[in-house]
This record gives sequence, structure tokens and C-alpha cells, in this order.
Amino acid sequence: MAVRVLVGCKRVIDYAVKIRVKPDRTGVETQNVKHSMNPFDEIAVEEAIRLKEKKVAEEIVAVSCGPEKCQETLRTALAMGVDRAVHVQVDQKEYESLQPLAVAKLLCKVIEKEKINLVILGKQAIDDDANQTGQMTAALLGWPQATFASQITLVDDKLEVVREVDGGLETIRVNMPAVVTADLRLNEPRYATLPNIMKAKKKPMQKLTASDLGVDVSPHYEVLSVEDPPQREAGTKVDSVDDLVAKLKEKGVL
Ligand code: AMP
Repeated sequence: MAVRVLVGCKRVIDYAVKIRVKPDRTGVETQNVKHSMNPFDEIAVEEAIRLKEKKVAEEIVAVSCGPEKCQETLRTALAMGVDRAVHVQVDQKEYESLQPLAVAKLLCKVIEKEKINLVILGKQAIDDDANQTGQMTAALLGWPQATFASQITLVDDKLEVVREVDGGLETIRVNMPAVVTADLRLNEPRYATLPNIMKAKKKPMQKLTASDLGVDVSPHYEVLSVEDPPQREAGTKVDSVDDLVAKLKEKGVL
């Protein structure tokens, strides 16, 4: 079976950046802040490349929906080993309210055009923590989904996926075509080497818009406010274990 893989590559604020809420509480500061590929998408890209190295996958297409800068994220995926990239252009303002349902609809159109039969997305994007796009994409396509994957194997044209579930692992088998979402332990993504970064500059990147794909990306919910987490209160020092026990009793913990 010729497996054609689509991987999602969302450009998000880098995981190491300290997030700042905008003074008007409408969202978080994104200007002049380091961005990178969503970490779970790096894992999805790595898995697709490993499937290609095992001669299971034939071609890998990376897709990013968002502003111009998403092309940098796609170049990273190309440098890691993806064959081609598709940038679905969404301007910065629209991107701020681009929701999983709209992304799922955009991905579905690309999946159709590219004759994809395996979709690997991250389990969630670390900016909005929605954990919805993979599930919605599978539902829109009417394909089976295997979420939170920590192992993927193709067995007789079916996918065997080990899933991370509360307190353990679950192994399921799904028919192809299918949508898989990558969890943290699926693999350790490779770094792009300098020669591959150079080669990636010559790999094809197609540019499309939401209207080219006939998708309405207007939001389905409105964000009312974004708040910082509550400040941690200062602790108290105790002089002895007896003091500690007394304090805990006082607070009703013991
Ligand atoms: P979410 O449902 O927002 O938590 O995102 C789950 C996964 O969907 C991400 O890890 C990506 O693989 C994919 N995804 C979400 N938004 C985008 C986007 N704008 N462009 C490409 N892929 C995306």
C-alpha cells in the first residue's frame, strides 16, 4: 500500500518563552517573541520521516496554516526530511482567531487534493491547548482516529497504534486511511543538519489561501478574556517539625 502522509506544522510561541498577557487581556503578546514549530508537530514530522525511511511512506507533505512566517516552520520540516510543503496563508489578524474547526476544514481540502491516506498531527498545540484538530479532521473525513499515539506500526494495510491513556497504554488497530495524533513518547525528533537546511531551501513550497480552498475560517467562539495565572503567595518558614505539624493542623490539612 502506497502511504502518503500529511503532517501538521503549527507555528507557536516557543515553549521556553515566558508568555505575557496583553494589557487589554484580549490575548497574549506575539510581537517580537520567538516562535517555533509546535513540539508535538516535530514529533509528528519525525514519525512520518521514520515511516519513509522504513519504506512504509512514499511521500510526506507538511502543512502550516497561518501568516507568512509559517514558511520558516515549514522550512524546518523540509530540513528534517519532509518532501514538500503547503502554506495555507492566513493573515496575522485572522490567525489570532483561527480555530481548530477552521484548521481541520483547511487540512481536509489539502488531504483531498494531495490524495493523502495517513494524517499525523500533534496531540495538541501548546499555544491554545485545544486538542481538537485531529479529532475534528477525522470526523470531517469520516476516517478512524488514533489519538495520543506512542507507537505506530503498519500491519497488513492497517495501523496498529499504542495510545497513552490514563495510567497505562492501550493498543488499537485502525483501518487506513486514518488520522493519528502524536504524544510525547512517540519518538525523539532529530535536529536538521546544516546541509539539509541548505537543501530544504530548494524543496517545493506551495502557497494557497483559505478562499482558494473554499473554506470559511471565521471563528465560532469569541475569547472574552485571557488572564495570567494567580501569583503564588509567599511561603512561611517554620523552626521545627512540631511547629510544622501545628501549622498544618491550624490550616485543617492534618
Ligand atoms: P490543537 O487542536 O489546536 O491543539 O492542535 C492539534 C494539532 O493540529 C497540532 O499539533 C497541529 O498538528 C495541527 N494544527 C493545529 N493548528 C494548525 C495550523 N494552524 N497549521 C497546521 N497544523 C495545525
